Order: sequence, then structure tokens, then C-alpha cells
Amino acid sequence: MTDSLPLCPECSSEHAYEMGALLVCPMCGHEWSPSEAAETAGSDEPGDSVVKDAVGNVLSDGDTVTLVTSVKVKGSTGIKAGTKVRGIRLIDPVNGHDIDCKIDGFGAMLLKSSVVKKA
Ligand SMILES: [Zn+2]
Repeated sequence: MTDSLPLCPECSSEHAYEMGALLVCPMCGHEWSPSEAAETAGSDEPGDSVVKDAVGNVLSDGDTVTLVTSVKVKGSTGIKAGTKVRGIRLIDPVNGHDIDCKIDGFGAMLLKSSVVKKA
């Protein structure tokens, strides 16, 4: 299992070695737990946080999108599919919701990128 050690998350050195339950990087001195790294892998990588809509278009701040499915909203009838949402803002995912936006008649809310399509 010595040839499958991950790269150092701090400096990307490939010389990390195991020390007990931890991995240690001799290049920068960083110590981390491999299971911890596996849990967060893919979500915290800088430059790897591309948000895509339901059909794979890359979304960015300020985009206008339309809902591809109706969204339930507490205390209301919900937002219908096809509703246009202007000026979205991409955020760090909160319970899977990675778009912060304002919808006419509903106010500020969070959406999942999987329920919208770039307009
Ligand atoms: Zn390192």
C-alpha cells in the first residue's frame, strides 16, 4: 500500500509517508489524516469548483437561469418550473445548494445548480 499514498494537500509533494494514522509530508511538515482528506476531496480544491447547471453548462456569478423543475418553498405554493432567476451568485454549497439568488415574489433563497438551466 506504500505506492498508493496521496499527494500532500499543502504542497502537492509526492513524498508523504505514513506515521500511525496520519500522513506526514517531509517537504512542508504538513500532517493530515487520510480519511479526512478523502471526505473533503473534490469540494475544497481551489480552481476545481466549477458549478454546472442541469444540462452541463458552466454557471457563473450574475448569470440568468430558469428552473427546470418546480421547487418547493416552505410556507408557499413553491416556484414553478420555467421561472426566470436573474443575477445568481455561486456560493460554497449549503446542504447541496450552491446558488444564492433572489426570486421575484419570494425573496432571497438558495437553489441547487441541478434544478436550473442557463437562460
Ligand atoms: Zn507538503
